Amino acid sequence: MSKVLVIGAGGVGSVAVHKMAMNPEIFSHISLASRTKSKCDAIADSVKTRTGVVIDTYGLDADDIAATTALLNNIKPALVVNLALPYQDLNIMEACLAAGVHYMDTANYEPLDVAKFEYHWQWAYQDRFKDAGLTALLGSGFDPGVTSVFTTYLKKHHFDRIDTLDILDCNGGDHGQAFATNFNPEINIREVTAVARHWENGEWVETPPMAVKQSFDFEAVGPKNMYLMYHEEIESLKTHLPEIKRIRFWMTFGDAYITHLNVLQAVGMTRIDPVMYEGKEIIPLQFLKAVLPEPASLGPTTKGKTNIGCIATGLGKDGQEKTLYIYNICDHEDAYAETGNQAVSYTTGVPAMIGAAMLVTGKWSGAGVWNMEQFDPDPFMDMLNAHGLPWQVKELDGPLQF
Ligand code: NDP
Repeated sequence: MSKVLVIGAGGVGSVAVHKMAMNPEIFSHISLASRTKSKCDAIADSVKTRTGVVIDTYGLDADDIAATTALLNNIKPALVVNLALPYQDLNIMEACLAAGVHYMDTANYEPLDVAKFEYHWQWAYQDRFKDAGLTALLGSGFDPGVTSVFTTYLKKHHFDRIDTLDILDCNGGDHGQAFATNFNPEINIREVTAVARHWENGEWVETPPMAVKQSFDFEAVGPKNMYLMYHEEIESLKTHLPEIKRIRFWMTFGDAYITHLNVLQAVGMTRIDPVMYEGKEIIPLQFLKAVLPEPASLGPTTKGKTNIGCIATGLGKDGQEKTLYIYNICDHEDAYAETGNQAVSYTTGVPAMIGAAMLVTGKWSGAGVWNMEQFDPDPFMDMLNAHGLPWQVKELDGPLQF
């Protein structure tokens, strides 16, 4: 039984809060704070209607460390679940240290002016969290998050050694819009326009953004084009599982998405450096975000399924070389019916709830800064099955042929 404060009232925050409210034996009291209080109130209304649970809400600029610390001292939660944007991570970690509260998030820190997706800023907090006797759990979404736990689950139960790992993220959903992103547009577009990097034989290999394309037949979705991308869990997985010789991340995109993105990039709308517009500095990507549909608004119209998982090849516990595929399939309409949000928010918000449950129940504990693959995967995997993200493992004939 524990008090939690969730920061961020977007699609992911909404799902996490609904799922926490459905587990009152774990989360005894839930508070929700975000920049726009009316968004917190709308989520609180939905939670009350769907579950009968009352949550309290606050307007908060989480970049204001003093204000966040004051709110923490007022509420006295056991844990802060940061579901705002990656820009807020360090400021919220500072407030947690000041107020003596555990910390968790779903995405690594990003400076506003450069798209990096690197852990070193947050890993630098290791000693301060250790000295304070506090836990910071990084990346408890789906990817990073579930994909990291999938990898340690395979390692613990099926492999003596993993040689190669491919993470495959497929969204087979159709939201009926010409162009929209399924989670925060600014972060999504920063990710897909970044140089692709994968880990191979002890070094980073770079390729131009969206230059490497493969087709893959996803169960429950069908064949889709997927693109090699950089994704932050590669950095933590290669650090904590150094035996893996090659780690790659793939994400599917439809042709219409790619065409729109190419045009937006060509005309400069994805730039993150300031430009002058009518005497005022604006960031083109932030302006673009303002005119694109909010991800949370896509819920009612999105149909289809997501299929996200990991393919690992290595030496099995039976002494045989093998390739295993572990994945979850999630239905957009089912996710919407349960929480009022589409599956991309759902597949992130449910693992956020589960990561929070691991910490407040003490199943995962320890002072310092941790990534998901550093803990025992079993209790997390059990909760995935029980709380809406069931997974399966199947053996493939051999490694991916690309
Ligand atoms: P949204 O943009 O829908 O929601 C973000 C929320 O944070 C908004 O309510 C926003 O407020 C609030 N916010 C922004 N800045 C501040 C601030 N300074 N102080 C307080 N609140 C603030 O994003 P999503 O819900 O789609 O994503 C949430 C997080 O989850 C992101 O960090 C994203 O990168 C991560 N994510 C992780 C995934 C994973 O698998 N690991 C997958 C998908 C997302 P306002 O509404 O006023 O703008």
